[in-house]
Order: sequence, then C-alpha cells, then structure tokens
Amino acid sequence: MNKIKRRSVIKSLGSISLGMLAPISLKGGINIENESHNSQIISTDVLIVGGGTAGVIAAIQAGRAGCKTMLIENGSQLGGTITTGGVTFPGLFHAWGRRIIGGPGWELVRESVDLDHGFPDFSTPPGRHWHHQVPVNGPLYALVAEEKCLEAGVDIRYYETPTNVTFKDNKWYVKIAGKGIQKEVICNQIVDCTGNAAVTSLAGFGVRREEVTQPGSILFILGGYDYESLDLELIPDQYRNMLRQNWRIKGGGADFSNQPFTPYTFLVVNGADSTNSESHTNANINGRTAVLQILRELRSLPGCEKIKIVDMRPETAVRETFRIDGVYSITYSDYINGKVFDDSLSYSFYPIDLWREGEPILQEYLEKDTIATVPLRALIPKESENLIVAGRCVSSDRMANSALRVQASCMGMGQTAGAAAALASMKGTTPLNVPLEELKKMIENHGGIIPKYS
Ligand SMILES: Cc1cc2nc3c(=O)[nH]c(=O)nc-3n(C[C@H](O)[C@H](O)[C@H](O)COP(=O)(O)OP(=O)(O)OC[C@H]3O[C@@H](n4cnc5c(N)ncnc54)[C@H](O)[C@@H]3O)c2cc1C
Repeated sequence: MNKIKRRSVIKSLGSISLGMLAPISLKGGINIENESHNSQIISTDVLIVGGGTAGVIAAIQAGRAGCKTMLIENGSQLGGTITTGGVTFPGLFHAWGRRIIGGPGWELVRESVDLDHGFPDFSTPPGRHWHHQVPVNGPLYALVAEEKCLEAGVDIRYYETPTNVTFKDNKWYVKIAGKGIQKEVICNQIVDCTGNAAVTSLAGFGVRREEVTQPGSILFILGGYDYESLDLELIPDQYRNMLRQNWRIKGGGADFSNQPFTPYTFLVVNGADSTNSESHTNANINGRTAVLQILRELRSLPGCEKIKIVDMRPETAVRETFRIDGVYSITYSDYINGKVFDDSLSYSFYPIDLWREGEPILQEYLEKDTIATVPLRALIPKESENLIVAGRCVSSDRMANSALRVQASCMGMGQTAGAAAALASMKGTTPLNVPLEELKKMIENHGGIIPKYS
C-alpha cells in the first residue's frame, strides 16, 4: 500500500474506536509520516512573543481590541517570572494611596487573589515598598491568565520560539520552531515580550546590557525541621535567614513555632542570565546545585536532621538581561523625578532597586507624591517599524531599569504595547505613528490609567 493510500485508510479509521484500531497497530503494519514536522504558514494580525508578565497582558489587550492575536511561549505555561520563576508578589499597583496600574493586568491579579484569599488594604501609603506587593498563588495565576487569553480569542502556542524574522512589504515573516513543528507566521505587528529583547535582537535592532548584570534568585520552601531544636548560631548566615523568619515571628510575640514550613525563600544566583537556552540552562543548574548543597549541609545540624524541600520553583528567576535601544531611553533622572511625557501611557512605581554581587542592594525611594511614567517611545526599537516591546527590556538606563522592571510596571507596558500594536494593525501603520489620543482612549476603555501630562 503506498503512503497516500495508507493515510486515507488511517483517516477513514478515525471514526472507529481506539479499541478496534489497537490490534491493527500492534501488528506493526502501519508506518505513517509524522505530518507535524511539515512546515505550516499561518497569518495573524499581531504576534506576541513571550507569554510572561507583560506578554499575557499585551495578548489579552490585542485580542480584546479585536485583532487576530497569536501568542508564542517557549515554556509550558503563562506568567513567566511570576509563575515559572516563582516571583509571586507583583508590585506595585498603588502609589501614595491610589491605584496607578489598571487594565487586564490589575484585573488578572485581582481575580486570582479573589479566587484564593483576601486582598490587602491599599488605601494608605506603604511603610516599605514590599508591603504593597500583592501575593498571588502562582499556579492559579497561570490558570486565570490562560483562561483570559483564550476568552480574548488569543491563539496560544507553547514550546515555540522564533528563529528568524524578516520585514518585507510592510509584513513580518517569522520562522518559528517548536516541539515537532516548524512554521512561518506572517503578521502585521510583533510585540516582543521575551524579557530579553530576543525578537528585537533577531530582527537586527540595537540591544544593550552591562558586562556584569544583577544576580538572579532561585525560590524554594524548606520544611521538616524541628523548630524548637534549631540552633541558629550553628546555621551558616545564608541559610539562617530563611529559618530565622519563623524565629523572628516568635521573638516578636506571636508563637508560630508550629509552622511546618519556611516562607518562600531564595538563594542568590550570581551571573544568572536567561538570554538563550545555554545561559538559562546554566542559571537553572547553578541555582538547583546550590539548593541541593544547602539541603545536605543543613541535614548535619541540630533540628535539621529531617529537613526537606517542600517546593522549588521550576526556573532560576533572572533580574536583568538585554534592554532595547529605543526611540527614547528613560533615565534615572526621569524616573526619580517622575517625569511625565506627552506620550506617557502608563505609570511605574518602585524604589531604584539594583542588586549587586556581594554588596548591599542599592535602593533609593521616590519622594512623596512622585510617580514615574513610561513613554510609548521607550517601547519602540530605534529605526524599527511594526515592532514594539513590553516588560523589563524597556529602553532605559540601568538605574531606571532596576525600578521599571517590576511586574505591575511590566503589565502597564504590556497593555500599552498590545493596544498600540492592535491600533497600528487596524490602521496599517506602525505603533509610533498611531494617533496618540485614539491610543489613550483605547487603553482607558480597557481599564488602563494614563498619566496626566500638563
Ligand atoms: C528574583 C527576582 C525577584 C523579583 N522581585 C520582584 C518583586 O518583588 N516585585 C515585582 O513586582 N517584581 C519583582 N521582580 C521583577 C519582575 O518579576 C520581572 O522583572 C518581570 O516579571 C519581568 O517581566 P517580563 O514580562 O519582562 O518577563 P518575563 O515575565 O520573564 O516573561 C518573559 C517570557 O518570555 C518567554 N520567552 C523568553 N524568550 C523567549 C523566546 N525566545 N521565545 C519564546 N518565549 C520566550 C519566557 O519563557 C517568559 O515566559 C523580581 C525579579 C526577580 C528575578
């Protein structure tokens, strides 16, 4: 039987129950070609690359604006650093007693928290910035993110990554490789939400980063220790902190000594870099090796004989990789002075927060009532057309980026980028040239909060 005939036989057997098909398969007489390896060509309006913190929001926004939207993600779930990296405490949605980030990002966080536990009170300014972060349940966040993307009509594709991007006759031609798949996507607009400016770089536009970047962290929970028998003095400093969190609570008056687990805790992973599969593999292996080493070392100490890992996040979370060289680059001075531009489309609020190997974190708080903003131009790679980014790769100097990179800010940028790409696709133009007032209206109509420019 030749190949075509065999295929049609298989297809005609499609309606027969598997039970009936199984004996035929077991005889080994069927050997069809795996069609999934064949190249496909797919058209879409907007292609979002990277389903992380910013990418999910960009996809929901573009889909809700009515555009045919595809989202490709090289991992197996949505949420990026929030879920796979385990940084499940997005911030900051509030500044000086009022909410500054809205849209699909706030909606998603709000719904995940409502489904899980109560909401903190944001009506007063925080004592320290982390008091206003919103703890979310990571797996639940991934579920709600996926549901919202699907509801917005987003075509989600996991395990896929672009290998080549070419701009021709006002369209992007994006070659994509996935698990058992090769395809070409032809689209009007690309939104690069890879966190690493991966598409921007593939397309040949400028990206930059310092030689030494901030360390990453691997997050995990320890349990199984006998809290009453711990001898904190014997526990090396870097491990002591994680166990001391329970200790300190006890010292403060409330006795939580019967808590079976540490809170989420982390180990710093120097040089962690998620730019490509090789560097990200190293970051993961280095993080996991350190966790295993800690576990073994702690086991020899009093109270830790049965210490165990209760949970560990799937990837080492990475703080800093490449940023784009954008039409405008946000400076430290812009950030710290809360500069509002005529094209500022979202807020950002966090202290300057630069982690350094072997040194204290460099932190600087904003003055009262100061809130930084993100102009559209900082999301657009210089000299590019029909390409926009969102997330930590926003065009900015290093100090400004150390604050801009936080999750609520990335979500605000995600909404801007999704809306700008959608509007540009509808109008046959590039995000930089969409009518600004129309773009602002679209963002506001979808719950976003636009900084006031005067
Ligand atoms: C340890 C640590 C602690 C932090 N603490 C806080 C905090 O307390 N509060 C806070 O708000 N923020 C915090 N941050 C910062 C914040 O979490 C990140 O900067 C932010 O989540 C980045 O969002 P993003 O969308 O740019 O990237 P990500 O969320 O990382 O998303 C990028 C997505 O793109 C995918 N991707 C990458 N490359 C490709 C490719 N080539 N093809 C297809 N898909 C690709 C990735 O798999 C990922 O899903 C912390 C970060 C770290 C690392």
